[in-house]
Amino acid sequence: MNTLESWGELLRVKKEVSPRFELPALCKKLETGKALVFEKVSGYSLSVAAGFDNSRSRIARVLGTAESGLLERYLEAIRLPWPPQEVRDGPVKEVKIARDIDLLRELPVVTHYEKDGGPFITAGVVIAEDPAQGIRNLSYHRLQVLDKDEIGIFLQPRHLWKLYTDKEKIGKPLEVAIAIGLDTALRLAAATSGISVPLGFDEYSLAGALRQKPVEIVRGETVEVMVPARAEIVIEGVILPHVRKSEGPLVNFSGTYGEAAFSPVIKVKAITLRKDAVYQDLLPFSPEHHLLLALGYEPAVLQIARVRAPGAAAVHITPAGCGRFHAVISLKKEQEGEGKEVIQAVFGNTRDLKLVIVVDEDINPYDLKEVEWAVATRFQADRNLVVLPPSPGSPLDPSARDGMTSRMGIDATKPLGKTDAYGKAGIPGSEKINIEDYLRGRPSSEKT
Ligand code: MN
Repeated sequence: MNTLESWGELLRVKKEVSPRFELPALCKKLETGKALVFEKVSGYSLSVAAGFDNSRSRIARVLGTAESGLLERYLEAIRLPWPPQEVRDGPVKEVKIARDIDLLRELPVVTHYEKDGGPFITAGVVIAEDPAQGIRNLSYHRLQVLDKDEIGIFLQPRHLWKLYTDKEKIGKPLEVAIAIGLDTALRLAAATSGISVPLGFDEYSLAGALRQKPVEIVRGETVEVMVPARAEIVIEGVILPHVRKSEGPLVNFSGTYGEAAFSPVIKVKAITLRKDAVYQDLLPFSPEHHLLLALGYEPAVLQIARVRAPGAAAVHITPAGCGRFHAVISLKKEQEGEGKEVIQAVFGNTRDLKLVIVVDEDINPYDLKEVEWAVATRFQADRNLVVLPPSPGSPLDPSARDGMTSRMGIDATKPLGKTDAYGKAGIPGSEKINIEDYLRGRPSSEKT
């Protein structure tokens, strides 16, 4: 907050707002603007932070890199993670609540969209460990406050689900912590998915390398789980074995309602927080939501593309593709047909992508005007289009049938050796022109 404020990138909302619909409505209206802090939330003393990571350039600046260097920083962080540093105490331990817990009395949990099932913790990172296997995991989940000390947690069959079902099989609960109010690197690390972060990869160490400073972690009060010492708020509890309760619906990244489900339940044992804690919220289906998804998935897609084509330079998972479905891959093509090979490789090794556009290295993949220009001038549907028959895709794609989705690849690279006909036209000397020099001349009437 202090850093963003010093950059003029923080907007403080002074008027009192309700955490039910009013706060997210403002977030929606201001979703591409500055980071927001709601200072007065009806019924609560805590203020609410939102939209802190809603811009690619601001995320890069926070991590101390250029926007163009973000993906390389990520790949380096995956290659050389920085393990967390264990500490004995931290700001998140300033206040401890372990009796008479009432989540909605303590925390301004937001109700976002009209038909959402209720208040959901959307910016909470769930932390779990399996000491026997030496595994720790950080991940995002749908977390609905169901009761004073109960949270419904939607689990897809991924890492946390594996840790939970391993315990459930022997009739035991899984200890977890939910950390809220985290820095950009920790949020990104928890949102990272795909081959970059296999089961057993400690997302704390990814966060440390992303921010180039180890994450400080401290033992939970009531659970054997290490939590971020500098989080604003930590909720501790256990996911109960063999208990399922209805949670949902909730708008997901696709902008449509994810259906209600019978999901496991977290029994809350304690809440610890800073004295002046700020609750953090994430508006579902917002630029921030799509950026956390996209930035966390681009490294895996680039790693896959590079297996097939070493000249793959960058991946952009686009915001309007919901941060998950559409990718643009830029490629220094070395062999004819490499564009289509990259498309096949990426579709063969990812689940959620439905559209891949491959462009040459002279096209900026982050500039969608340039990308569309490449499609318009370098692509012919009968020769350069790849269409794959349905196979398992994202369960959250509303257009999928029985979980099956069809995929389309557009090879918008120019043929090798035909650069003249496909090049970008330039005007000689334009790079030297300083517009101000041409506009500062005195009007002709003043001539003497
Ligand atoms: Mn993981």
